[in-house]
Amino acid sequence: MKKIALIAHDKKKSDLIEFAHENKELLKKYSLVATGTTGRLLNEKTDLKVIRMASGPLGGDQQIGGQVASKEVEAVIFLRDALTAQPHEPDVSALLRICDVHNIPLATNLATASMLISCLE
Ligand code: PGA
Repeated sequence: MKKIALIAHDKKKSDLIEFAHENKELLKKYSLVATGTTGRLLNEKTDLKVIRMASGPLGGDQQIGGQVASKEVEAVIFLRDALTAQPHEPDVSALLRICDVHNIPLATNLATASMLISCLE
């Protein structure tokens, strides 16, 4: 089953939950992986089944980056908070970079996430 990675910084988590609700029929067709807290919230608040990695600041972005590098992930939706400094900024940059290296579609805001999802449909 093809896999999509879902990540949201804290101030964007509610947006991602809403996005997941709106697109659940499509998302159900994929294996889903998320960073720790994002994945917990998705599992609790939607009926999607999401595999959880570590929390982002503890290495979850790097774990997802590893899956991108292994060609396990088809697309990444990463709702970033561009207005708040993140302690794990190097990991965030590394994930964006590895998506570019492997030409993996990456959405970092809701508008692009919607476009990406409609392309997958
Ligand atoms: P989280 O990680 O889902 O564990 O909050 C997201 C992130 O900050 O990269």
